[in-house]
Amino acid sequence: ASADVVVLGAGPAGLVLGNLLLAAGIDCVVLERASSSRVRTRARAGFLAPNTVRILDGHGLADGLHQNGRPHGTCEFRTPEGRFRLDYGSLGRGGRHHVYPQQHLVTDLLRHYLARGGRIHFRTEALAVHDTDGTRPCLTARDADGRTVRWTARYVAGCDGRHGAARRSLTAATVHHHDHGVTWLGLLAQAPPSLDAVGYAIHDRGFAGHMARTPEVTRYYLQWQRGVAADAWSGGRIWDELDLRMHAPEYGPLSRGTLLERGLFDLACDVVEPLRHGSLFLAGDAASVPAPAAAKGANLAVLEAEILAEALVDALTRGDDRGLDAYSDRCLAHIWRAQEFTGWMTRLLHAPPEDAPDAGSPFQAALRRSRIASLRTSRIHQDWFAENYVGV
Ligand code: FAD
Repeated sequence: ASADVVVLGAGPAGLVLGNLLLAAGIDCVVLERASSSRVRTRARAGFLAPNTVRILDGHGLADGLHQNGRPHGTCEFRTPEGRFRLDYGSLGRGGRHHVYPQQHLVTDLLRHYLARGGRIHFRTEALAVHDTDGTRPCLTARDADGRTVRWTARYVAGCDGRHGAARRSLTAATVHHHDHGVTWLGLLAQAPPSLDAVGYAIHDRGFAGHMARTPEVTRYYLQWQRGVAADAWSGGRIWDELDLRMHAPEYGPLSRGTLLERGLFDLACDVVEPLRHGSLFLAGDAASVPAPAAAKGANLAVLEAEILAEALVDALTRGDDRGLDAYSDRCLAHIWRAQEFTGWMTRLLHAPPEDAPDAGSPFQAALRRSRIASLRTSRIHQDWFAENYVGV
């Protein structure tokens, strides 16, 4: 089988790319390892940056987002020294997030893609990409019936995440890894939000976070000891710990509910360099995974998909390869900015990890308090924070 562009993965990157290619009349196909229902129900990100909304709006993909998403522009820091709010929507460049769960966005993108006549094969796992140095790359995949199938293309877009076939097929790439040494227990609770802001709590016992999703479901994060299983604690113990770290005695208890999902996330990030290998291009988590502290992953994925779509359309319709040649450098500039900011956020919210040489250091603790104090008191620091927090 063949297509001009074979897209691996039906996450935000792959489906934005697929929609933009179809809109320009480019022949493409998406191969996705998971089932259609799994793709449409997998809860992950929820905070979409202004640039993401601009891209979706510009291509008629934002109907669900505008109907059911909510603008959001405040975060609250809770620390042993007190709490403060940053209305980041009126700081910096004045950008806000839209809160819209990723699984709803993916469902919308899929609906538009199918309505535009897009081809997609679910439960089809790409195994390896070959011959990317030539003009006719090909790949092997295992289809829903377990058969090995072969696809040829002009270009292959690797939007299949950190553990996908695109990354595995690279022979000459450098992968820069950085482990922040911190693990989060990510929770999805059947409970309304407990505050009308993103909550970042700093506590001697570790970080806790609160992020709205829908009026009925809220995401919480709890800094967690690496190596301890996600189900090691009862629901009651988790809520008690969240209350403690969110400083509930001072600011009121959290709205509790059934914990629907628990997952462990090591704050380990990476960047692949370069993002182009002949006719294979990486986008989204396949290209780079930032630490989750500042909601960057899905937003970078959509931005890279737009840059790649424009470059592929120029190459396939006009023989103009300049966009493809510039793709890697353009995306990497955004990626490293996001990595730097999420690294800064990570150091703001966590003490050095237990195995770090300066673990438990009073000097480091004082630096962290000073960092927070600067953010609380300096308008210039707040503007810098706001610009980076919503920017991609
Ligand atoms: P994915 O969404 O991972 O999609 C990749 C797709 O490829 C998947 O559907 C997968 O099944 C498929 N696939 C994998 N391997 C293969 C294969 N071999 N063959 C075919 N298909 C394959 N980001 C934000 O911007 N804001 C947030 O608030 C935020 N919160 C998050 C919370 C959590 C708990 C997590 C886990 C992540 C969060 N992120 C957030 C990150 C964000 O979800 C990801 O960065 C985003 O999903 C990346 O999109 P993608 O399309 O690159 O990859």
